[in-house]
Amino acid sequence: FPVENIRNFSIIAHVDHGKSTLADRLLELTGTIDKTKNNKQVLDKLQVERERGITVKAQTASLFHNYEGKQYLLNLIDTPGHVDFSYEVSRSLSACQGVLLVVDANEGIQAQTVANFFLAFEAQLSVIPVINKIDLKNADPERVENQIEKVFDIPSDECIKISAKLGTNVESVLQAVIERIPPPKVHRKNPLRALVFDSTFDHYRGVVANVALFDGVVSKGDKIVSAHTQKTYEVNEVGVLNPNEQPTHKLYAGQVGYLIAGMKDVTEAQIGDTLHLHKQPVEPLPGFKSAKPMVFAGIYPVDQSEYNNLKSAIEKLTLNDSSVTIHRDSSLALGAGWRLGFLGLLHMEVFNQRLEQEYNASVILTTPTVPYKAVLSSSKLIKARRAVQKNMMFIDQNRVMLKYLFPLNEIVVDFYDSLKSLSSGYASFDYEDAGYQTAELVKMDILLNGNTVEELVTVVHKDKAHSIGKAMCERLKDCLPRQLFEIAIQASIGSKIIARETVKAYRKNVLAKCYGGDITRKMKLLKKQAEGKKKLRKIGNIEVPKDTFIKVLKTQ
Ligand code: GDP
Ligand code: MG
Repeated sequence: FPVENIRNFSIIAHVDHGKSTLADRLLELTGTIDKTKNNKQVLDKLQVERERGITVKAQTASLFHNYEGKQYLLNLIDTPGHVDFSYEVSRSLSACQGVLLVVDANEGIQAQTVANFFLAFEAQLSVIPVINKIDLKNADPERVENQIEKVFDIPSDECIKISAKLGTNVESVLQAVIERIPPPKVHRKNPLRALVFDSTFDHYRGVVANVALFDGVVSKGDKIVSAHTQKTYEVNEVGVLNPNEQPTHKLYAGQVGYLIAGMKDVTEAQIGDTLHLHKQPVEPLPGFKSAKPMVFAGIYPVDQSEYNNLKSAIEKLTLNDSSVTIHRDSSLALGAGWRLGFLGLLHMEVFNQRLEQEYNASVILTTPTVPYKAVLSSSKLIKARRAVQKNMMFIDQNRVMLKYLFPLNEIVVDFYDSLKSLSSGYASFDYEDAGYQTAELVKMDILLNGNTVEELVTVVHKDKAHSIGKAMCERLKDCLPRQLFEIAIQASIGSKIIARETVKAYRKNVLAKCYGGDITRKMKLLKKQAEGKKKLRKIGNIEVPKDTFIKVLKTQ
């Protein structure tokens, strides 16, 4: 296929603005998939993706299209639609020369529209603005055109107005892809240089790497090397995605496709890695980063007898997702488990949902935390503020874009929900990592009658320690069963007590319901009570049932 007839592009959008629907229409229009079938988000393969309407794993499709007497190969490279995956988005975009920036004609520019635009802009791609859902009653495409001109400096007459749902004007999107996006700049005569922009794990064939060829050719039987790991492999299969895998003899520079070469797990084909031929090293493509987890959570089987099943489920899922980090962990309250690192909150939720749906696992996920770097000195004298406004811009009369510098731990738990409810659903939110900042953090202990509860030790900001400590004590008071003696629940920083609650003494008499006589019934009940105690953990002389920890840890 001549390079000048190839276009590599991607669709980027805020969630729900119609990316998947537009992709389906483009697949139909080019005859890649059958129009008569009920095509709903063909590229969204995972169950969670269909349910949540988000793309987690990028899917790619090669489309053929005749235009003005010439055949074109249009490679639609899908990108994950959420900021948690912005590194993956940036790698997918580096395989493209242009993007379709889809904006809802009713909602206008939203947080992820802006974040995604800047990823494309930094990659120096041609941006084609597409205003979608013009069929909606409240659609206001002119207002959105003005927003696009104001925020992105793209002339409003470059906007294409469509309804992806009805198929209105989708032809002109294909036309714009061919006319406005340049063909890839590649050299077929040079030695192979291929970018891995996604990889998935297949139980029978091992790793399937999605690749974009910048230089050279790759054929079945070639010996290739990963620039990142320096491991050598023999290529077993190459092909294109239509959108299903279709083997071909070779892949040429400018093409996008898949490659299978006996890699055993996705850490051997990391996103952003460069592949080259054995004994023909090349300059690796720029921008490679190893995945960096931002949010950590403990994960435990609800029942310890499920430990091995959960272990194998987590191993299988991580074969497919090299961005999750795993460390074995154990908690006195929750037993043996793991500490997992995720790219962000959505990533964590999706992982949890996949464990439950695909592996039938029932797990306890502890409150997510963020990484801290501790410095052992007194330079924290610096006054740290919790959120600093950086920038403000009016998108139009009734919409404003605000930029703040936030500590990550302030947004991981319920920031998004609070923002949505405060703004009656109108605000949208996005974030990127701004690095470590100094802050006055303290270690807070929770004590039961003076004994520290290891499970509940947390790191909190100095200014919030009092309110968080108070809330923890109150929650414990509600969850903790009364005992034969009074219990003091305290939150402390070092030796300073910052909050206190008391649980009054109480005697649980399991025999109260047996009126005298029946001795076997009495024995049964006493045995049951003894079994119940096995699930208790003793802190000092206080018995704490396992589900107390679960309640306190889960609802923080
Ligand atoms: P994505 O999250 O960007 O992939 O968005 P989807 O393609 O999943 O679309 C989100 C919702 O908007 C779905 O319910 C679609 O049916 C709907 N939708 C997409 N395009 C249009 C359109 O042109 N008009 C209308 N009325 N609805 C649309
Ligand atoms: Mg989608």
